[in-house]
Amino acid sequence: MEIHGENSFKSKTYSIAAYKIEQLTVELHTLSAEKIFLINGIGEAIGRKIIELAATGKIKMLDELLSKTPEGIFEMMKIKGIGPKKISTIWKEMNVENIGELLYACNENRLSLLKGFGKKTQDNVIESIEFFLKQKGHYLYAQVESVTVDLQQLLCKIFGCGTIKVTGAFARQNETVDELEFVIPFSKNIILEKVGVVPEFYFLENTDEYVLYKYNKVVNVKLHFANEDDFIQTVFETTNTREFNESFYETFPKLEFQNLQIEEEIFERAGLQYVPPCLRESGDILELARKKKIPELIRPEDIRGIIHCHSNWSDGSDTVEELAAACVQKGYEYLVISDHSKSAFYAQGLIEEKIEAQHKLIEELNIKLAPFKIFKSIESDILNDGNLDYSNAILSTFDLVIASVHSNLKMNEDKAMLRLMNAIENPYTTILGHMTGRLLLSRKGYPVDHKKIIDACAIHNVTIEINANPSRLDISWKWLDYARSKNVLVSINPDAHAIEQFSNTRYGVLVAQKGMITAKDNLSSFSLSEFETFLKKNKEKKVHN
Ligand SMILES: [Zn+2]
Ligand SMILES: [Zn+2]
Repeated sequence: MEIHGENSFKSKTYSIAAYKIEQLTVELHTLSAEKIFLINGIGEAIGRKIIELAATGKIKMLDELLSKTPEGIFEMMKIKGIGPKKISTIWKEMNVENIGELLYACNENRLSLLKGFGKKTQDNVIESIEFFLKQKGHYLYAQVESVTVDLQQLLCKIFGCGTIKVTGAFARQNETVDELEFVIPFSKNIILEKVGVVPEFYFLENTDEYVLYKYNKVVNVKLHFANEDDFIQTVFETTNTREFNESFYETFPKLEFQNLQIEEEIFERAGLQYVPPCLRESGDILELARKKKIPELIRPEDIRGIIHCHSNWSDGSDTVEELAAACVQKGYEYLVISDHSKSAFYAQGLIEEKIEAQHKLIEELNIKLAPFKIFKSIESDILNDGNLDYSNAILSTFDLVIASVHSNLKMNEDKAMLRLMNAIENPYTTILGHMTGRLLLSRKGYPVDHKKIIDACAIHNVTIEINANPSRLDISWKWLDYARSKNVLVSINPDAHAIEQFSNTRYGVLVAQKGMITAKDNLSSFSLSEFETFLKKNKEKKVHN
């Protein structure tokens, strides 16, 4: 009731009644109607609801309230630090309907800007959501990364050796990971014996191939056993997906696995180019490996500029000066400041006067910081009809424009395509931001026709962002191959709201590798002069279109 804005006096009478009922020494349903009304704390309205529940098995009012409440709101009620009233505000004022969206909003600093919430509440909420999500057993790659490193060290200590290998989804750099897998060069009995006495490991299951534990009450850990002879083969097989293994063994049924020192030898014996773990999703890669056509994949150190960054002019936490100084210090050649646009009022999007002022500041800083360069940009909202939310006169003052959908995310494919295609056709759009709006493990993203969008980006010279926020990683790497085949440039962007988030770029690189992106395919690995040339040429092309 409180979530739906009912007055709190009324909802309190229900909780008092519930408390009184719990205190009863008799079962409520054994009491007659008269007796129910006599119970202290139960008035006319609640008494009638109890009788209705006893007679029909339900309460109509409750059912109605439940049907009006999105699924994710119930989950939010499990988060410590926010009661129903706050949830109501979050839902109604921020349009946030589940925990994943809430966590994302917190990381963008938006909860602290709401009335009645502060930085401290926001920090508490982040902490309890992270705890809650961990309990659920699915993780973002970024969430399990440090656990994996710690675990590998711990396992090395337990088994007194340095040859314990991480395999499975983590080794393949998947966006999300359900369990961590390791290959241990010991027998099942030794694993059971040695790990069994370590309190952090809780035994779950034991099969012919592995032993499964829950580690620190949080994440499932699968320990594959192997002996010296089949260690490398086990590493190979447990790194790959089943689909990859099936194709591989079908193609090379007689391959010799004896006396292997390293995994690379398996590919060598098969006459293949080495296939790194991140590419071992499907058997299709084998054909490319046979032709030795797997390109040199982009590496984290290939990133030369920070594109898509929010400052405290909108919802970021650092000043433009601080962001630029951090870029210089970390060795980046340029920074693209793209704060939120005016329609994103919840994120303090920039009105026209502020844009002018920010541009002045950037020009001043660029004189001071040369040869380092800050570029003027904006993350312009794609409105309901697909228009961007500034006039062409304003849009033309930016060096580049990132166009993103932030509002009315619940739409069917027709509607989504209309908005995106219009935005792509807009001559001012340089980069299409987080294409589907997905939030991994919490929001699917609106449905789009990826092929059509990529084709349109090819025609209109629009670059597609790989949003490197570990909860987004949007566009999905599964479409990168197609984008590359159409010569569409991607841009691995941190979408940073603080200096610490520059490092998110790495997660974007890891998924880009899965899509076989090379440094040449990625805008943010252009050098400063290449980037400037790109912007100039891009503007010219757009004018001709
Ligand atoms: Zn955005
Ligand atoms: Zn952004």
